Amino acid sequence: MTDLVLELSDVRYKWPGRGAFSLAVPRLCVSQGETVLLLGESGSGKSTLLSLICGTVLPDQGDLHVAGCSLKGLSGAARDRFRAEQIGVIFQQFNLLPFGTVSDNILLPLRFAPRRRKRAGNAGAAAEKLCSDLGLPPGLGRTKANTLSVGQQQRVAVARALIGQPPLIIADEPTSALDANSQAAFMDLLFQQVAHYGTSLLMVSHDARLGDRFDRVVHMDEIAQVERAAA
Ligand code: ADP
Ligand code: MG
Repeated sequence: MTDLVLELSDVRYKWPGRGAFSLAVPRLCVSQGETVLLLGESGSGKSTLLSLICGTVLPDQGDLHVAGCSLKGLSGAARDRFRAEQIGVIFQQFNLLPFGTVSDNILLPLRFAPRRRKRAGNAGAAAEKLCSDLGLPPGLGRTKANTLSVGQQQRVAVARALIGQPPLIIADEPTSALDANSQAAFMDLLFQQVAHYGTSLLMVSHDARLGDRFDRVVHMDEIAQVERAAA
């Protein structure tokens, strides 16, 4: 299958020095343009799984392919570069650089990803276009991120993930800090953009109500074996 953006096979992982928790995922695939919601209770290993997919940690066993490329055997620096090229990441707390401007924040992933930078074309113009598509006021680019409202921060986080059209967006509980209205607005924007660019989306949540919007809903219980020893 060539249209898989993400493919995990027989992945096993234990946090070093934390023998109490181990995760095994026999198989998980995400197709090109597919949106997948990953559900699971707190502590079930959702963020750990995303760290494996992003290549921030390496599996003890098994392999992952992102955009057809195996993460096995890549050095730490090569994995960082690969992540910047192929994956747009949206964190739970958005993780904007507080003293950077809106524009600095959106352009950040391009700094480490020459091919993604090339895809973005005129990067400044691409950032402005994303801001306007996401309903941010014109001229916000030079505003410092730490002066933005939460609603504006979430839009900047989406723009940063989308710039340069990475094939895969990974989002770790990006709506957990938002009230119901901002949550719906955030999801509308994210889905609009993902559909527009044909991007694959793997989003983690513990909120099953979000499921209707996604092509597929996957539960940690179904895809992973988790062992947790009593502390
Ligand atoms: P979830 O995102 O589903 O709440 P996590 O993947 O964060 O679950 O956590 C699963 C287990 O892995 C927990 O026992 C947690 O303590 C452990 N864990 C998570 N991140 C780290 C880390 N950076 N270092 C060591 N242990 C971690
Ligand atoms: Mg988590």
